Amino acid sequence: MSTNCLSEEQLFTYLKSPYDCNENQLIEEHLMFCNKCRDELNILDTLMTGLRIYGKHATQLVKEGKSLHIKNEVMQRYINETCDEDENKEIVTHIAGCSNCLNDIFAIKKLLYQIRNEPAITKKSFLIAQFALHYPKRIPVVEQEAKDLFKNAAWKEIALFEIVKPFSFAFTGDSDESARHNEDYRKLETDKFIIEMIQPLAKEPTTTIGIVAKEKLEQAKVTICTEKEISQTVTFDNNRTIINKEGMQIETIRYIKVEKI
Ligand SMILES: [Zn+2]
Ligand SMILES: [Zn+2]
Repeated sequence: MSTNCLSEEQLFTYLKSPYDCNENQLIEEHLMFCNKCRDELNILDTLMTGLRIYGKHATQLVKEGKSLHIKNEVMQRYINETCDEDENKEIVTHIAGCSNCLNDIFAIKKLLYQIRNEPAITKKSFLIAQFALHYPKRIPVVEQEAKDLFKNAAWKEIALFEIVKPFSFAFTGDSDESARHNEDYRKLETDKFIIEMIQPLAKEPTTTIGIVAKEKLEQAKVTICTEKEISQTVTFDNNRTIINKEGMQIETIRYIKVEKI
């Protein structure tokens, strides 16, 4: 597979005139091997079909509020290709006139493609977190992927702090009560550990991390990742340990991994 995927512009040109230009041979060669670009080509093809049929009218319908933005449940079915014919037609009419929903579809497809092809849990988590940051309204569409990843990670003793917040599951923290006390508190569990973090004064970057082992444990390697991973060996006393991180903001912590040694 070529490492250089096709740009939307190239795909557009290709769709408009699949038989003439020289470049198209290279495009076709790439399409033979690349599912992602084939997917994108399909979306563009759908869009252009929509444009041909509904033309300027589609944009007008969106402007007048007669063609509504694609709801998350519908979007999910569309991505999974389980829409019925009527729904498909409605979607095509809409995206022919709405670049917002079209962009969302591209972003979701791209994310799903990337996480399917990325082996590392922590990188998948980063991709999902980035998506959540840029497409907050579309979070429900990929919630299942995030949940599965979160469970998988917990099973491997990695606590994914970065995705639990936007997806608001299995996460204790930022409650009204802690906000009143001007502190930031987060808690997550993996199969074998309970990890709690607290930043006592929100403005001062010092985070305290407490780890409780559910089984008897004397030593573990703890990896904390903000921008990069930092690992350290910690000793447990009565299955508990506390790590203080001066200069570390709680919200920059992406994940914590605890490995028994
Ligand atoms: Zn490609
Ligand atoms: Zn829309």
